[in-house]
Amino acid sequence: MTEKTSKDWKTRTRLVHEGTRRSQYGEVSEPIILTQGFVYESAEQAEARFDKAGPDEFIYARYGNPTVRMFEERIAGLEGAEDGFATASGMAAVYASLASMLRAGDHVVSARALFGSCLYILEEVLTRFGVEVSFVDGTDLDQWRAAVRADTKAVFLESMSNPTLEVIDLPAVAEIAHAVGATVIVDNVFSTPVFSRAIELGADVVVYSATKHIDGQGRVLGGVVLGTEEYIRKTVEPFAKHTGCAMSPFTAWVLLKGLETLDLRVRAQAATALEVARALEGDPRLSRVIFPGLESHPDHAVAARQLEQGGTVIALELAGGQTAAFRFLNALQIVVISNNLGDAKSIITHPATTTHSRLSEDQRAELGITPGLVRLSIGLEDAGDLIDDLKHALDAV
Ligand SMILES: *Cc1c(COP(=O)(O)O)cnc(C)c1O
Repeated sequence: MTEKTSKDWKTRTRLVHEGTRRSQYGEVSEPIILTQGFVYESAEQAEARFDKAGPDEFIYARYGNPTVRMFEERIAGLEGAEDGFATASGMAAVYASLASMLRAGDHVVSARALFGSCLYILEEVLTRFGVEVSFVDGTDLDQWRAAVRADTKAVFLESMSNPTLEVIDLPAVAEIAHAVGATVIVDNVFSTPVFSRAIELGADVVVYSATKHIDGQGRVLGGVVLGTEEYIRKTVEPFAKHTGCAMSPFTAWVLLKGLETLDLRVRAQAATALEVARALEGDPRLSRVIFPGLESHPDHAVAARQLEQGGTVIALELAGGQTAAFRFLNALQIVVISNNLGDAKSIITHPATTTHSRLSEDQRAELGITPGLVRLSIGLEDAGDLIDDLKHALDAV
């Protein structure tokens, strides 16, 4: 039998082993190399390393660190990306992916339905530095076609939007963007790295908040930018190492442990999400049950093509508006009220008054964020217990 390299391994094997570096002690669990600097054997070695650091040579933790490098290689392997740069949070990754490649006068096209902080970067920060940004309805391909121009440098989108779970047809948008030479940057949190095939489907750059499913246990903030070796090393790395968004080695270690169980956790969460969505669909107290895994979802066919499953988040709209939504949240006993997602614990959020409260009522209406809308992130609890909890809380409405 010919020897296999890590590139031939299946997902679960890669998630446990890829990128592993062992010290002279041969430890089984990845070591946390909690150091800011590295000692050189000679002045000449220091000089040579500053000139060009080899793949396993480190200079300063803001530039790179062995534990962080293990995380970068493992998540890049999972996504099928050539390389990656880890950051202190998901937002640092989103900002680095854009700010590292854009300059004044550039044009960007972005889907309008975005995580609030992503919208802030595109609408408030980049424009202040002379970048022009056009927003489109991400599911309307004609709007993408009309918005891209010869000077469009990047298109930005969340593959599945937050919180209304629209699924954007990635190959179609990538084709439109590539026709004008634009870089396709995908914030892929809601698709999860387990179900994502973003690079295969046309994304040039994939960004994750590792705070979500990758940690999956509510402990740390982290992020990563994934792309070609050229983009990561020549564009993102110089920007990131000099502006200081580095991930802590301790965080990288927590996330490495998260990656080991990621596939198992996300598949279990997605299966439970489908069960819960089916159990709630048709309930008269809910005016909408939005889940891409349901046949009733407008983008179900796109989701089936590009996601394998419907994801781990469900959006529900209470027929009784905000009063009903608040009563529903307050009556839940297992599902907790918070704003993370992808966690082992099921979490419910009322976007209009929390994550999207910064937007005007008109902006919220345009995005489908009605007063009765709640976002439910499915955790690792027993599906029957969750359904009982949700039904009981609906009774209280
Ligand atoms: C949470 C989230 C982010 C930001 O990640 P942080 O780790 O909180 O900085 C960005 N995009 C999406 C889609 C998210 O859900």
